[in-house]
Amino acid sequence: MLSGKMILPQVSIIEKEHALDDRIQISQSLKTAMEYISTRGTAPCLDFEKVTLTGLASDGGLYLPRTIPQLDANTIRSYQNLEYSELAAAILSNFTGRSIPLEELKQLVKSAYGHFHHDAVAPVIQLDDNLYFMELFHGPTLAFKDYALQVLGQFFQYFLDKNAESCTIVGATSGDTGSAAIAGIRGLQSVRLFMLHPQGRVSEVQRRQMTTVADSNIHNLAVDGTFDDCQSLVKALFNDRAFKERYRLSAVNSINWARIAAQVVYYFRAALVFGSPDREVNFSVPTGNFGNVLAGYIAMQMGLPIKRLIIGSNKNDILTRFFETGTMKKMSVTPTLSPSMDIQISSNFERYLFLLLGRDSVHLCEMMEEFSRSGSFSISRRLLSKAQQVFGAYRLDDQQIFSDIRKTYHSTGEIIEPHSIIGVSAARREPDASVPTIVLGTAHPAKFPDAIHQSTNRMVALPDHAGDIMNMDEHYSSMNNDLAALKAQIEQLAPIPSS
Ligand SMILES: *Cc1c(COP(=O)(O)O)cnc(C)c1O
Repeated sequence: MLSGKMILPQVSIIEKEHALDDRIQISQSLKTAMEYISTRGTAPCLDFEKVTLTGLASDGGLYLPRTIPQLDANTIRSYQNLEYSELAAAILSNFTGRSIPLEELKQLVKSAYGHFHHDAVAPVIQLDDNLYFMELFHGPTLAFKDYALQVLGQFFQYFLDKNAESCTIVGATSGDTGSAAIAGIRGLQSVRLFMLHPQGRVSEVQRRQMTTVADSNIHNLAVDGTFDDCQSLVKALFNDRAFKERYRLSAVNSINWARIAAQVVYYFRAALVFGSPDREVNFSVPTGNFGNVLAGYIAMQMGLPIKRLIIGSNKNDILTRFFETGTMKKMSVTPTLSPSMDIQISSNFERYLFLLLGRDSVHLCEMMEEFSRSGSFSISRRLLSKAQQVFGAYRLDDQQIFSDIRKTYHSTGEIIEPHSIIGVSAARREPDASVPTIVLGTAHPAKFPDAIHQSTNRMVALPDHAGDIMNMDEHYSSMNNDLAALKAQIEQLAPIPSS
């Protein structure tokens, strides 16, 4: 029976002061170096620090741990009473290796999750029999990207300070990533951030979440062009080697391994609430880039008992088609009600494919080449059935999004926004509901007020902590879609003292 909104009891904290030291079984990786390899097989192996600061590997591949850390049932059980930030330190210590001593890691993670607006950080509510919803929108910008970018900002500052260096991060955004990156980096002394957005093509809430930030290390650039133009400008800038070195350009985009590692934490969190490792759970995840659900797959590979990972797509269903047919085929992007999933290339999928292919870099390179040449590649029937054992995949068009938001509101009282609802509906379509399924709620409904109003006739207010952004001053510069203009902006706003 559905009993309305029910916050699951968050486990109590016992012996709070010593909790972490006594309970974390220090992983092998703290004693040995943690090594990362590129999926394409020819870039140098790096440690966690270099992987974080580098982002994309020099051979065009993505970094993954050489071996995925393994946690046995007793270790997972020992995490049951940890607070969110303690759990985050315990999980992340498996990936950071010798790059960050445990004491420091604990402090960094504590600062990262200190700005969240719910004591549980990632609370779980019940929607229906065996159907639950994890609210990943209690960070400063109201979307799940805060859970990774708050930590990433701390890691950047830590590594740069340690080496007495500074860097310039340049990125492009179509909405949510920009505000989360700005919130993670504002006020950090060693990092300057330039965020490009297409002028007039992001929603007012999304723009104001970026432009009302007044910190002197944050620079918003409104480009006269599309999101693709913004991305091309950033790419062209990174291809200018002299400029890249002079300004120590760096990126915080979704292929950064540290973001995936930080996202692994909430999968553990949710599973522990339901009695892991002594009980299996499913997760249902709305995705486009395969970034969020990849973290779930990594958690599973680490030993967390996850039965199924269910993915939900909108009309841009390249991932769903892949898990149905074994063919990844690029099509054109259609704008939908869930804009943060409107993509045609799932950049993080390469990491999963590498693992599915048994870490065969040569085979992977052939497939990626075929994809960039012809826009498509296929895997064998054997590999497809292996993938289907873990992943279920479903899609929702805009009409279904409207009607499922309305139905869920009427049956549960919960207002769920147009990305997260795709996860809810995907979970409801999965035939095997023998274990609890946890949907990842990726954004607060107030970020998408128009779709919510159309479906439910309700207006959702921004939470108080979002500040009075609709009335605050905005800070941004407008610029032409032109590389020289971008360089001039950076030179003018963040001059590097000549040495
Ligand atoms: C970024 C985003 C997604 C998609 O995340 P993936 O990296 O594609 O998994 C889903 N919902 C919201 C609200 C987002 O901001």
